[in-house]
Amino acid sequence: MIIAILKETAPERRVCMTPDLLPRLKALGAEVWVESGAGVEAYLSDSDYARAGAELKPRSELLVSADLLISIQPLGFSELEKMKAEAWWVGVFQPLYQRPLVEKLLSLGLTSFSLDMIPRTTRAQAMDVLSSQATVAGYLAVLEAARRLPRFFPMLMTAAGSIAPAKVLVIGAGVAGLQAIATARRLGAVVDAFDTRPEVKEEVQSLGARFVDVEGAADASQAGGYAVEQTEEYKKRQAEKIAQYAAKADVIITTAQIPGRKAPLLITEEMVKAMKPGSVIVDLAAASGGNCALTENNKIVQYHGVTIVGQSNFPSEMPGDASRMFAKNVYNFLNLLINKEKGLHLNLDDDIVAGCCITHKGQIISGRVKEMFQNQMVKQ
Ligand code: NAD
Repeated sequence: MIIAILKETAPERRVCMTPDLLPRLKALGAEVWVESGAGVEAYLSDSDYARAGAELKPRSELLVSADLLISIQPLGFSELEKMKAEAWWVGVFQPLYQRPLVEKLLSLGLTSFSLDMIPRTTRAQAMDVLSSQATVAGYLAVLEAARRLPRFFPMLMTAAGSIAPAKVLVIGAGVAGLQAIATARRLGAVVDAFDTRPEVKEEVQSLGARFVDVEGAADASQAGGYAVEQTEEYKKRQAEKIAQYAAKADVIITTAQIPGRKAPLLITEEMVKAMKPGSVIVDLAAASGGNCALTENNKIVQYHGVTIVGQSNFPSEMPGDASRMFAKNVYNFLNLLINKEKGLHLNLDDDIVAGCCITHKGQIISGRVKEMFQNQMVKQ
């Protein structure tokens, strides 16, 4: 069995597998082929991979020969067409938003896995690329805001006078939000946080931030760790509270997402106008429409003196640790796909495999993707 590690295309700087894990992959009975230059942007050289037992090959050869191809970003249609019909592809391609890609995979009969669809269970935590990469995003979002803010984060007592700490508002206290809170606190800011899931209150408080309660959130306890759509009344109450806190904040970090849907709009144009000049918003939901009305994906916008950062691939800006965490997630996941005796083995009785297997021999496997296709057919 040949496992292929593909090089990403700029601006993506991460690599999906690191050399330290190659001996373990080989112990699963695989030959590991790595595309020349795959790790260069993450400061991992071809010789690092070769020393760890990889064969360095050109991309064209990997595409046609590999049994299992691994990437981070989606492959192009023309590349998918080059793969063997029985080949498997593991990547991160947001199938809930990428219907044409799923249709292409179906027509080619390929077996595909999208790691963003791994269920949020305790057993799956070690394979959860959304969590590992959200940790990087939450951390860098705060550093980005701190760098752009025209004032200090910490309280300072200096001979030139005292400086009050910056006020940071974090909306969405999931993985990225909690890391943003922790990072902002380490830099000395005063932090307030909102989330529709009241159960995160304790985690927020344990990081030294204040949790802003909004009464009447919809119950998300059966949604597997994901947020659910809120009632109009809740949204109105939440908007009033956010407006109050936004007007006082120096920095807002937004991370609120609802899988498969457009991100909820939480910061309106009016709220931005009411913010202090010089304030910074970093919108981590930029790729799915943004939590701020003025966010533009992968752009930095200035509006009434407020800087709105819509960077949606922070993990690529810290390719070293982001790649290391991603690779460990992938390695843990491959343990579910590779059986030493049988090689690649599709065990759909395993909820993690079934949850993120998108297509297999012309069929959709993931229940969530099937549901999305059915709903779209009903709407058409
Ligand atoms: P996410 O990226 O889908 O959303 C980010 C946060 O935004 C969530 O906390 C969500 O509740 C919040 N949010 C959504 N709509 C909102 C709104 N209108 N207003 C305010 N907040 C809103 O989620 P995530 O960070 O990937 O994960 C959320 C939670 O799921 C985590 O805190 C964790 O408890 C759980 N989780 C579990 C696993 C696992 O067990 N394998 C893996 C990942 C996450």
